[in-house]
Amino acid sequence: MTHHVRILEDGTAEGDLDAVAGLILEADRPAALTGAGISVDSGIPDFRSPGGLWSVFDPTEYATLSCFLRDPDKAWKLYRALGRTLVGKRPNAAHIALSELERAGRLAGVITQNVDGLHQAAGSRAVLEIHGEHGKLECLACRRVERFLETHLEPGPVPRCAGCGHPLKPAVVLFEEPVRAMEAIEDLLRSTDLLLTVGTSAQITPACLFPAHVRAAGGHVIEFNLERELPESTLGSGGACVLGPASVTLPRVVDAHHEAVDVPAAVVALMPGEPDERRPRPHHRQVWQEGSEVCDDRSRSCRPEYLSSIRGFGSGSRNSRGFR
Ligand SMILES: [Zn+2]
Repeated sequence: MTHHVRILEDGTAEGDLDAVAGLILEADRPAALTGAGISVDSGIPDFRSPGGLWSVFDPTEYATLSCFLRDPDKAWKLYRALGRTLVGKRPNAAHIALSELERAGRLAGVITQNVDGLHQAAGSRAVLEIHGEHGKLECLACRRVERFLETHLEPGPVPRCAGCGHPLKPAVVLFEEPVRAMEAIEDLLRSTDLLLTVGTSAQITPACLFPAHVRAAGGHVIEFNLERELPESTLGSGGACVLGPASVTLPRVVDAHHEAVDVPAAVVALMPGEPDERRPRPHHRQVWQEGSEVCDDRSRSCRPEYLSSIRGFGSGSRNSRGFR
């Protein structure tokens, strides 16, 4: 049977959360696929939503490789608008929950359709960015890569390659360009037996095909979404659908998983990207998300001795976004 759970506004769950957590527990090699929905609670609207970026800049006109090659000044109007929607944004509890799963050795990787870099900012390391990343600029002439700086958002001349003078473009996948990391993505999809799909619309190829691929190979799929998008044939027996904001639903399921395997929640909320990695400061997700310096929640212990229980702690990558 397919497990159905809905988290209501008051936080109560309709359905069996533990059964969904049990699917993660039983899986050999879970992986995740994320889309725009996971970043909405970080204040980044879905470009396809009414009033979103695509309603201001027609993507077939602005977000194409030919637009950049023909008229980089015009294309940069879109790139700057996109950059302004991303600047200063922080990962939310859903990004953090996925990084916790990875650090607990329970997530083989994240395939993301997003270009916002928030998975890495949350501490995830195995991130495959199928649509590229907005935090870097690339030169199509000499392949030089530079950081996207906040100064690039200001109106003015198109940034040019320091090596060859060619106009730079953000390292995002434009229409007419191939998607990225497909070899690694196919390897991950082949090896996973449980795909968590989070905030994806199931409309954009090729990512919309991944859940069905995993299912066809005998794996299971758990969908986290505001409303259900995946067909019953993809969720199927042994799958699940968890409805509600990803920043609420995903942490609830991950917490239920951690409680079942005795992973201390206060520990896994530690962020390796915080300023001083040598002096770890355990925060709870919400505290960290709000950027607070101290953890004032006494209901959970925040003791450093838990750190060693979490595989890989302490060698986390720095925030790779160019904006911060
Ligand atoms: Zn160049």
